[in-house]
Amino acid sequence: MRSPAVSLKAAHCADLISRSDSTVVLTGAGISTSAGIPDFRGPRGLYVTRRYDPERVFDIRWFQRDPGFFYEFARDFISMMMTVRPTFSHLFLARLEAAGKLDAVITQNIDMLHQSAGSRNVVELHGSYGTATCRDCGRGFDALTNAWWDEAMLRSPRPPVAFCPACGGVLKPDIVFFGETVNGYDRAERIIARSDLLLVIGSSLTVTPASLLPREAGGTTVVVNRGPVSLEPSAGRYFVDHDTDEYLRDVAGLLGMADR
Ligand SMILES: [Zn+2]
Repeated sequence: MRSPAVSLKAAHCADLISRSDSTVVLTGAGISTSAGIPDFRGPRGLYVTRRYDPERVFDIRWFQRDPGFFYEFARDFISMMMTVRPTFSHLFLARLEAAGKLDAVITQNIDMLHQSAGSRNVVELHGSYGTATCRDCGRGFDALTNAWWDEAMLRSPRPPVAFCPACGGVLKPDIVFFGETVNGYDRAERIIARSDLLLVIGSSLTVTPASLLPREAGGTTVVVNRGPVSLEPSAGRYFVDHDTDEYLRDVAGLLGMADR
């Protein structure tokens, strides 16, 4: 982990965005913490406070052995998701996209807050709980609009495992587990390679392979994250060690987009 080397004033960042022809954003857990979603791995993260072991919760071999272990966690996570709202940063990124100033959001988060905020072009590297796939027949389902999901998540006796309405097999939400390939990595690489401005928001760039994506950037990179970041300083890279909402509120104000 390296300390931020070259900082960037909000005015300069706003200027980069307004002059860019192709801006792309990469987001991590830090963009969602002020929404009330704990960083899973932080000292007060969900894993720690509820005694979930991430090595087991998101391990595909454990899921195959006992899906109830994952579903116990999922029930708590989804109950929490029902109470959270997107942060200013999420809303600002959605507004930038609507204004034609942002090509895509690439995220490491599974919380779907970018979509809640109104972002449309979102690459979810680690998937999300919005859809689920049957382990037996391979059918895909929109988890959030299906009664069986509600039933399994909120009302079933423990363990709350969701089963396929078609064949009765175990459903697995389309979250990328340890031991599985991330979603859309090639697409994310292409999007970043053709951009001229990459904003990394709320990620310390420690989780591979997302942490490798900034290497693809051909233009300027601005990392806004509270705390150290694993990215070598180099020409055209700026590091802002600051609260993401506060910093982006300043940037949005300068762009005339701070209306909420
Ligand atoms: Zn099935």
